[in-house]
Amino acid sequence: MHELSIAADIVRCAEAALEGRRGARVLEVKVNVGQLSFVGRRQLLFAFDTIKDGTRLRGAKLRITHSKARVSCRGCGYEGAIKIEKSGGYVIPLIACPKCEGPVEIISGNGYNIASMTIDTEEENAKRERGGRAHRKGD
Ligand SMILES: [Zn+2]
Repeated sequence: MHELSIAADIVRCAEAALEGRRGARVLEVKVNVGQLSFVGRRQLLFAFDTIKDGTRLRGAKLRITHSKARVSCRGCGYEGAIKIEKSGGYVIPLIACPKCEGPVEIISGNGYNIASMTIDTEEENAKRERGGRAHRKGD
């Protein structure tokens, strides 16, 4: 399962970011998933929730955003988005040039990347406990 390896990768990256930061914990990880990576949102959230237990990411939230794919066509020089067709509730991206219907090269949108991470440090925790106004991270 594709989503499982992505979730494992996210957890690994986030844990690496925590290395050497005692008491720090990850509150939220934002991951950007390309349109053509065919990552199931639910499957990825489920995989993340399963893997994070027993790691320093326990309690972390995963936020998934999507980015549009970009392609380029050698035939007519088109560069841009692809056409998305909806058929009976299914979304079918047509990986062909929307202009000449020729074969295209995918420039972006077939991968994923960690967009940002919200890390809570011990220092911030201490401040909060001293009665400082809690800094709420927008939801
Ligand atoms: Zn074309």
